[in-house]
Amino acid sequence: MTPEQRQEVINRLNERLARHPCPRCGNQEFSLVDGYLSQPIQEQIGGIVLGGPALPSVTVVCTRCGFISQHALGALGLLPPQGN
Ligand SMILES: [Zn+2]
Repeated sequence: MTPEQRQEVINRLNERLARHPCPRCGNQEFSLVDGYLSQPIQEQIGGIVLGGPALPSVTVVCTRCGFISQHALGALGLLPPQGN
């Protein structure tokens, strides 16, 4: 994640009002993980499918209790344009 991408994520989270305190401990300081997560989406519970559909996201961590929250890049309008 470049510094520009990082700032864009922070800007989008602020624009979308994702600014409430931590739901677990009430802390108001968070850290944005420096990178993206891409969780696989599977139709079956058994096994692990690699290379299939995925849910790309960014991760925010409470600096006091470590509570982890994720925000889908698509909902934030941060997915790169896709072809047909
Ligand atoms: Zn917390």
